[in-house]
Amino acid sequence: MGSVDTELLSSLFLLPDTIAIEAVYPTTAHLTVQAACILKSAACPLCQHFSERIHGSYERAVADVPCGGRRVTLTLMVRKFVCGTQECPRKIFTERLPALVQSYARMTNRLNEVLQTLGFATCGELGERLVPKLGMCASGPTFLRRMRAVSVLPPESVHILGIDDWAWKKV
Ligand SMILES: [Zn+2]
Repeated sequence: MGSVDTELLSSLFLLPDTIAIEAVYPTTAHLTVQAACILKSAACPLCQHFSERIHGSYERAVADVPCGGRRVTLTLMVRKFVCGTQECPRKIFTERLPALVQSYARMTNRLNEVLQTLGFATCGELGERLVPKLGMCASGPTFLRRMRAVSVLPPESVHILGIDDWAWKKV
């Protein structure tokens, strides 16, 4: 695949600018999209200093939103960097891709949002039956976890608090 093809694919899949698609492996029901971060350096999550010293890499598979009715799996080549800060206790760190996927998550941010929306719109149970038809895969417990993740977000501050005018007995 030439560089023009990969740029076109990256724009079609609407991935963050820092992620480049290297290859796509299609089957009738599934797309495997191989991608990697194009930035030369990454910031240490502890001391925030950038490093270009690559220690190694590994492949991480995460589920993504469907494409043309087909399930999509992103196989991300994730790099490990050496932190160059002497005092930093973190000698090796893994690059983060927060615009695409959270640490340790098994699905992209956007697939998470789609499942949350479906879960709330269908009360979870119907969503479980609906997602295979939409090119996704999620069990009932997955829906519940996605919905609970939303419900534990801290509430915004209250500006105006109203109290209903109600009493057991009017005086
Ligand atoms: Zn560090």
